[in-house]
Amino acid sequence: MKKKFLFFIRGESMLNIKFIEAKELKEKPDQNSLGFGKYYTDYMFMMEWYKGVGFTDAKIMPYGPIPFDPACLVLHYAQETFEGLKAYKTKDGRILLFRPDMNAKRFQNSNNRLCMPELPVEDFIQAIEELIKVEKDWIPTLPNTSLYIRPYMFAYQPKLGVHDAEHYKFMVILSPVGTYYKEGLKPVSIYVEDKYVRAVIGGTGFTKCGGNYASSIKAQIEAEEKGYSQVLWLDGVHRKYVEEVGTMNVMFVIDGTIVTAPLEGSVLPGVTRDSMIQLLKKKGYKVEERHLSIDELIKAAKEGKLNEAFGTGTAAVISPIGKLAYKDEVFFDQPEIGPISQMLYDTLTGIQTGRLEDEFGWTYEIKID
Ligand SMILES: *Cc1c(COP(=O)(O)O)cnc(C)c1O
Repeated sequence: MKKKFLFFIRGESMLNIKFIEAKELKEKPDQNSLGFGKYYTDYMFMMEWYKGVGFTDAKIMPYGPIPFDPACLVLHYAQETFEGLKAYKTKDGRILLFRPDMNAKRFQNSNNRLCMPELPVEDFIQAIEELIKVEKDWIPTLPNTSLYIRPYMFAYQPKLGVHDAEHYKFMVILSPVGTYYKEGLKPVSIYVEDKYVRAVIGGTGFTKCGGNYASSIKAQIEAEEKGYSQVLWLDGVHRKYVEEVGTMNVMFVIDGTIVTAPLEGSVLPGVTRDSMIQLLKKKGYKVEERHLSIDELIKAAKEGKLNEAFGTGTAAVISPIGKLAYKDEVFFDQPEIGPISQMLYDTLTGIQTGRLEDEFGWTYEIKID
């Protein structure tokens, strides 16, 4: 690679990105056994933010460890936010992102809640775009594979004392991935969590901040011990209304109508969730964003009206739910993926990978010059 400086202009924003070349490039993994988050590419993006200066020192550099002062704020008070999106290679070799502006805006909302600097939308997209241009050969091409993009920010200043920081780091790393769950598109079993809570209105449920996930692991492990792969979270106040699953939003098809939790501050506003709602409405389905109590859900299942249940998220796209249990009683058991779940999976992945026409203008092409 000869280019030493990458220099871009788009709209108002312009990151001057320094390129530091790697001495050696890694061998690419076998596309048939990528798993999820196991492999990382040759380069990463890194940029600093200093109080009084703003964002500065953007660079694309060899992927590798970075130093941490033992007093680094993020290690003590977990001021960290992240995003997750994917790049796809189309049959004719184009590179597509899916609604990156939604991730950029959500990242701003997360950072605002956590009192961290808000990266301009164009800079967020540009950082990703330039890193992917360098790493384009890492985008896998087999069906159901993609290049997962992980942007994140954290407090880097060494200081003990709970406060916002004078130094943050923004980084992007890339990981070629296959399907998120070992099961692939096979239905997963879900335990309705009645002991722990994930989020409450007024908290950080609507943000992708590391702390949310740290505190969810115990429920996840206990569910696994009971033989389930994920938990379905109920609202934190009444322990009554269904909210979401692990790292996915959740939708239920009840008597032909799709029901999902409303966005009131405790549920993560998923890009996939929003896309599914738009797709479903366009195809003429009735979609309700409303409170759904666990009692109503169990009743619908017992009356045979719960047609399908599935999770939605970037990592898995659609994850059909095969089994649902509440207080050790299985009330929904459907070993096969349902027709609406399958249709949504095929349509959305079709748009994302350029196989189907994108009527919504959701895809964003990265042009290699
Ligand atoms: C990331 C995430 C989702 C899904 O969001 P997408 O934008 O669709 O990937 C849902 N719930 C939680 C808790 C998440 O972290």
